Amino acid sequence: MKQESKIENQKIVRPIKVESVELEKIIAKPNDKFPEPLQGEFAFVGRSNVGKSSLLNAILGKKVAFVSKNPGKTRTINYYLVNHKFYLVDLPGYGYARTSKKDREEWRKVIERYFSERTWNMKVLFALVDSRHELMESDAQLFEWLDILGIEPIVALTKIDKLSNTELKRQIDYFEDVLSAYKIKRIIPCSSLKKEGIDRIWNVISEELSKE
Ligand code: GDP
Repeated sequence: MKQESKIENQKIVRPIKVESVELEKIIAKPNDKFPEPLQGEFAFVGRSNVGKSSLLNAILGKKVAFVSKNPGKTRTINYYLVNHKFYLVDLPGYGYARTSKKDREEWRKVIERYFSERTWNMKVLFALVDSRHELMESDAQLFEWLDILGIEPIVALTKIDKLSNTELKRQIDYFEDVLSAYKIKRIIPCSSLKKEGIDRIWNVISEELSKE
């Protein structure tokens, strides 16, 4: 039996206007404190170079996150405060081919701290996956970890503008199938370049914020 599709069309309910965005807090050291919880936070995680900074910038309508040509080694958690009410949280990227074992362990420590100390304030975790490739081992490891932690992410398939319609359809079928092994809430195909999927992400954010 085919599972229920995870990419159903959502209706756009309540658009949120971005009135202000500030880089409120950078968590760099193990003792750095998380900011005030406010109305909650929406976190973004993915392999480095998956297009996370570009997606955050597209969502916020501003260049706030740093888009790099060379996948960096940033190991910080960046809190972007939106409208003085809630945060978009940029978690460090993983899985970059040239990182050392030490880097990977550091990444794990930072994320582990986030998951153990802060998910109570997290409304949704957006896990970004490159739409063009097969699911990587490091992505699969993250999804397994999230399953264990009981976190059900929304998967944002990035860079769909690089695919033809036929390829996109094939990749969506592929991801629906391969991701059915994990608990995920939904799949949202995105392009920061063409601004696709951004309204759906906003839809999720406004839906969650209106639950209170
Ligand atoms: P991050 O390392 O996950 O933050 O990824 P970046 O946002 O820095 O993007 C990595 C590379 O992918 C950059 O060269 C971006 O210009 C490119 N990129 C990101 N998003 C898109 C997209 O939606 N479409 C296309 N065509 N390229 C993208």
